[in-house]
Amino acid sequence: MDKRWMDLPRHTSEYIQGVNEFIQYAFTHSAKENTILCPCKKCVNGCWKEASEIYVHLICDGFLDGYKTWIFHVEASSSFAQYGEAPASFPEQTLMRL
Ligand SMILES: [Zn+2]
Repeated sequence: MDKRWMDLPRHTSEYIQGVNEFIQYAFTHSAKENTILCPCKKCVNGCWKEASEIYVHLICDGFLDGYKTWIFHVEASSSFAQYGEAPASFPEQTLMRL
């Protein structure tokens, strides 16, 4: 996945579109009910938030520095794929192994 947009200023349409794609991606792969972990600088993947909040956080605060591989949102997760099911019980147990 192309993440060059993550380095762009947050008012650019590329960044905003990227945030939308991230949210879509994260909800597809790592949603818990209607929330995902917020990867913004303030929440640092520590808070479960709805899409509208994530969107605001990522536009206002931006992504956590260096969060280019979305491990909290199950990207490129060959290690997760082995378990053969949606990461419903993720994050606690699984993250301990990362
Ligand atoms: Zn946040």
